[in-house]
Amino acid sequence: MPLYLDHNATTRPDPQVLESMLAWLGDKHANPHADHVAGRMAADAVERARGAVSELIGADAEDIFFTSGATESNNLILQGLLNHGTGSRRLFMSAIEHKSILAIGGGLAETGVSVKLLHVDSDGRISARYVAESIGTEVGTTTVVAVMHASNEIGTIQPVAEIAKALEDSGAIFHVDAAQTCGKVPIDVHTQGIDCLSISSHKLYGPAGVGAVYISPRVRRRLRPLMFGGGQQDSVRPGTVPVFLVVGLGVASELASRQLTQDATHLAACATAFIARLTELSVNYRLLGDSNNRLPGLVSVRLPGVDADSVLHLLGRDLYASTGSACTSGEIRVSHVYRAIGLTEEEGSEVVRLGFGRHSTVDDAVHAAELLSYATRKLRE
Ligand code: PMP
Repeated sequence: MPLYLDHNATTRPDPQVLESMLAWLGDKHANPHADHVAGRMAADAVERARGAVSELIGADAEDIFFTSGATESNNLILQGLLNHGTGSRRLFMSAIEHKSILAIGGGLAETGVSVKLLHVDSDGRISARYVAESIGTEVGTTTVVAVMHASNEIGTIQPVAEIAKALEDSGAIFHVDAAQTCGKVPIDVHTQGIDCLSISSHKLYGPAGVGAVYISPRVRRRLRPLMFGGGQQDSVRPGTVPVFLVVGLGVASELASRQLTQDATHLAACATAFIARLTELSVNYRLLGDSNNRLPGLVSVRLPGVDADSVLHLLGRDLYASTGSACTSGEIRVSHVYRAIGLTEEEGSEVVRLGFGRHSTVDDAVHAAELLSYATRKLRE
């Protein structure tokens, strides 16, 4: 079996998560909105899951809504706040946001929303002062600021509490895409001053196809739902709640709450072992992202002079990892994130990203470094 080191793309559901879901696909299956005993049991399971998600981020359970994933959560917040209303509407977002934020910005701009990108430094960091200065103090507007908690590509963690503090008197709504950090980095929406936050289940050892969004009561009053239907989840996100998926996310959240520190220590140990072995093997590499504020377990390395896609192609039988290139409209383009931190197109094509997970081992990390060392030597020859 190849080594799976792509946990920032997706994490396989934890065995306990899988186990918890099965009964809700079998004997216990019922509509949680139905008024009979089976339905009420399903509804209780949904509410328990809502409680587990809310605990993971320090929120109140009634402010959590289940969605199909972080993409939908991001859409619900940004579109729900900005695609209606009179007066000026403004969206500020960091230049390294996930496509599910950037692309919404593109759509909203066409409807008259003023959309501005906030620049990051060469480590991918955004400063709170710069965010506040960019927003200014214009009154009578709907202003949304979207800054991801950590980058899925370079792992840099943003100073979200500082940004929230700097925005305090501006009236702006602060949205945080926490798809990468939820369950891996401590989050407390109240103490960190976050108004809305997106969660993806399949990044925290839960099933794919489900996610959640935290919406503070202040923001909820201004939000227009994306969908209309049978009034489920207070009409914020109608549609029959998929019990087995939500139960899986709930158990994944309970596990993450219990294991967060232990997981983070383990992931950091894997990353450290990987980097140490690369150095020992005299591989020429540069680490990307902020070394002091990095998502545990994510290592984004540039291998100067070596094409990253060729590395992963050569190691296809041994290692599953990611590069920063994607095929867009038939053309290979490096990620906007690498361009935003100042890399050239060529430098961006030299980046390999490894993501260690809860079930990775330090031996896996050492082995991955040896594989990369072999591939870079072979390709440089
Ligand atoms: N935001 C970030 C930062 C992500 O990493 C991802 C997944 N790559 C998403 C949003 C989208 O999440 P989902 O797959 O749950 O829609």
